[in-house]
Amino acid sequence: MQTWIFQGNPKHFEVDTYLSENEVITWSVRQKHFVDQLQEGDVVYIWRSDGGNRGTGGVVAKTVAISEPYTIDEADNRSEHWTEDHVPDEFASIDLEVLEVDLAPRIKRLDLLENEQLSNMLILKNPVNTNYLISEEHAALLEKLWEGPSVEDDLQAMEVENGHIEGKLQTYYGQRYERNAENRRMAIEIHGTTCQACGFDFEEVYGERGRNFIEVHHIKPLHVTKETHVNPETDLVPLCANCHRMIHRDPQHVLTVEELKQLLEGK
Ligand SMILES: [Zn+2]
Ligand SMILES: [Zn+2]
Repeated sequence: MQTWIFQGNPKHFEVDTYLSENEVITWSVRQKHFVDQLQEGDVVYIWRSDGGNRGTGGVVAKTVAISEPYTIDEADNRSEHWTEDHVPDEFASIDLEVLEVDLAPRIKRLDLLENEQLSNMLILKNPVNTNYLISEEHAALLEKLWEGPSVEDDLQAMEVENGHIEGKLQTYYGQRYERNAENRRMAIEIHGTTCQACGFDFEEVYGERGRNFIEVHHIKPLHVTKETHVNPETDLVPLCANCHRMIHRDPQHVLTVEELKQLLEGK
């Protein structure tokens, strides 16, 4: 099984509508040397170029090939989605089953440009083609970006949060300090027991059982601050269990409280 990226330009083709309205789509194979390589069962990510709207480009769907490439000489059922002048005369095509669509896009071109491991993907360097074959290594990383953290990732994040594998990851936040009773007492004294991200109040919801309960989050990554002194006023933030878990869910990308708030606001 191989992994591909197929590109569509919303200027010439109504990518969003086509993906949203069809469970099976047909895409052209313009890079003719790939006709022999494409196979049923290959994973194909659909890349919508920004079409002149900066910041909107990226991966908008995951599909799987359900045919071998074949040649069609007339515009097929997707012709209605082509803007005039851009209907190709004859081209190889392949049928794809749409597995999931996320027009946001879920994987943004701008984020990939800043991704250490993925910024050298060909589609970023030479964006003029329709079809790109993705290396196994890049495919695994793209898969992770598309699917999000796995059950195993979640468990590992909790291990990190609990301090069981401290030091194994280069970047993590100061959970050591979050477990310290004195830090916790001072943080609560200074900041109170309301979640600073969503406003959740344990006592309000759980009554007596929740009184004075809140989790304490240490906002500085340890690789940045090696110092052992914690300032509860500036370094510690009270967070409810939900918000705290979401902040730590991806240990490679611990969110700031501000970023979490933006998620809560749906941005
Ligand atoms: Zn919260
Ligand atoms: Zn934390």
